[in-house]
Amino acid sequence: MNFDYYLSRPDIGDRERAAVDSVLRSPELALGPWTVRFEELVRLRLGAAHAVAVNSGTSALHLLVRAFGTRPGDEIVTTPFSFVASANAALFEGARPIFADIDETTFNLDPGAVERAIGPRTRAILAVHVFGLPCPMEELAGIASRRGVPLIEDACEALGATYRERPAGAIGAASTLAFYPNKQITTGEGGMVLTQDGEIARLVRSMANQGRESGAGWFDHVRMGYNYRMDEMSAALGAVQMERLDEILAARSRVAASYRARLAEIEGVRPLDDPPWATRSWFVHPVRLDRAYDRDRLAEGMARRRVQTARYFPPIHLLPFYRDRFGHRPGDFPVTERVSASLLALPFYNALSDSDVAEIAGRLAEALAEGRRASATPGNPGPA
Ligand SMILES: *Cc1c(COP(=O)(O)O)cnc(C)c1O
Repeated sequence: MNFDYYLSRPDIGDRERAAVDSVLRSPELALGPWTVRFEELVRLRLGAAHAVAVNSGTSALHLLVRAFGTRPGDEIVTTPFSFVASANAALFEGARPIFADIDETTFNLDPGAVERAIGPRTRAILAVHVFGLPCPMEELAGIASRRGVPLIEDACEALGATYRERPAGAIGAASTLAFYPNKQITTGEGGMVLTQDGEIARLVRSMANQGRESGAGWFDHVRMGYNYRMDEMSAALGAVQMERLDEILAARSRVAASYRARLAEIEGVRPLDDPPWATRSWFVHPVRLDRAYDRDRLAEGMARRRVQTARYFPPIHLLPFYRDRFGHRPGDFPVTERVSASLLALPFYNALSDSDVAEIAGRLAEALAEGRRASATPGNPGPA
């Protein structure tokens, strides 16, 4: 299907192209200087002690789950309202994700629910900064330290966000970033692990690189590892994107502000509410629909108007393989289910101008009006 407006589009300039080209003209396509440089740029920006670049955010999550010693039968307390990879990271090691429901306005983990989900087999809390808004880290860190478990941040959607002036991704025991093309900055595919803990960093680096220790020989595999390395083309792209981070974040904030102004004029949708203690780094741009509107019908109406939208996120516990394996049912995490059914992500990328946003908002208003008419038909009770 062709759209006038797509959900996302990376912001790649001449400097990115030149950097990738310079790698392609060199003999070092892997394990070279760009990876070191990219890691250093991210590490310094976030104020972390260690950074390890890998080939995806999912790989980064898997390595952290392993590095914290997760064994089959262990439990990881996390959110059902996320991209599936955060919960799958537990499954990779035979552990079970124990879901805690979310807060109705921030869409992030509710600390009270986290506290209740912790048990004797809990290996870690994995907090996801959903849609670039940091979790209430002080409360979560308090729970983690009282219960003696590490707090890991999935900051894959939150590069550039801050929690009480501290960068998301540099607050917990360790964190992950991701650089898929719809994230704040991209490397094509890519991710990173950040941590203050030298031992965790050493394990992660080794496991990402076939179990080698740094400085050892090519065939000195001291533990089981993976090939989760980032290549040099990706790292060169990432390094230049990272140098442009402030410009990129400013462009995203401008588009978000433009949406906020337009959406305020439209009945039936609400922008996201941000608490005063955190600064969101815009990732995708969902709007929340009032209960009188049917989200799926609105998505169809937008598609007919050539605007791509997405249903971020389906509840993880209701994915078929989670239901089969753990017996989850609708109603298990009611806030997640309610929030999930009410959100629709609109096109969101740096190149959207104010007039593009006005055009998209106009088509949204039309599609909403259509949805309202249909659900107001006598005999049709509309969505619950
Ligand atoms: C993007 C993302 C990831 C990692 O995704 P990859 O595609 O593997 O890089 C992990 N967690 C969340 C919450 C994400 O949004």
